[in-house]
Amino acid sequence: MSKTFASAADLEEKKVSFTQLSEHAWAYTAEGDPNTGVIIGDDAVLVADTQATPAMAQDVIRRIREVTDKPVQYVVLTHYHAVRVLGASAYGAQQVIASQDTRDLIVERGEADKASEIGRFPRLFRDVESVPAGMTWPTITFTSRMSLWLGKLEVQLLQLGRGHTKGDTVVWLPGEKTLLSGDLVEFDATPYAGDAYFRDWPATLDNIAALQPQALVPGRGPALLGQERVQAGLASTRDFIRDLWASVQEGVAAGKDLRATYEHSFATLQPKYGHWVIFNHCMPFDVTRAYDEATQHADPRIWTAERDRQMWEALEG
Ligand SMILES: [Zn+2]
Repeated sequence: MSKTFASAADLEEKKVSFTQLSEHAWAYTAEGDPNTGVIIGDDAVLVADTQATPAMAQDVIRRIREVTDKPVQYVVLTHYHAVRVLGASAYGAQQVIASQDTRDLIVERGEADKASEIGRFPRLFRDVESVPAGMTWPTITFTSRMSLWLGKLEVQLLQLGRGHTKGDTVVWLPGEKTLLSGDLVEFDATPYAGDAYFRDWPATLDNIAALQPQALVPGRGPALLGQERVQAGLASTRDFIRDLWASVQEGVAAGKDLRATYEHSFATLQPKYGHWVIFNHCMPFDVTRAYDEATQHADPRIWTAERDRQMWEALEG
């Protein structure tokens, strides 16, 4: 029985929550759809990850305006994926900030990723014609770490290692131990690993755990409140990445081709993780990338709309 491509059959709208996590941090979450983090400082607002289109970002702005009239001065891109980035223009922010590694990926593969992701998630790109032509370019880039001061509030942008992509950045409020993780951490949602570094990702999660966050906004899924919930989210993400990587390594060691490895991995992971959001969507991309990393591609190959469909046909056709 063949599965519908990616999330093309997922058309059901999700219920949005906008919740305060700590004195200055808020989470915009939507039942497993991509989240947005909001930091309200003394004089300005920071938004981390923008939603997929300006039209969808308007709903985030509407929620922000229910709690503050301070201007949105900063947009932070935790990584380059279009579903996180292409709503940026709606905020009218003075600065769009990303790691230099993320900017390099936008240069190298931003256009291809945009076309690919729009094909994968038709529902998430509502009013896609509201996206400006071309790419969303950072106005500030950094390497490793930087601090922003929203008045007296320090906001740290940290690269704690590769994982979901080469350029992953987390947003950290040291004063209130609150963290916005982007797609490095998911909760009750399947990690997308099509552009991932499987060998690095678990250690990067350990680095997040070492900060001992009291609250964490994952890339998808509900905000995690309390150290126990945060550590549970880190652990389940780490388990998925390790289990998938181990199953693919077994397939490669047994001399299986990609399709046979995929069937082995899917059967191995489905009982434990099959109820997570976008499991069927992510698995073909995740296994393909893990197989590449275990064989001959240290860095993720570029996904295009055409390669997406060819891969799906090869594994699910
Ligand atoms: Zn992503």
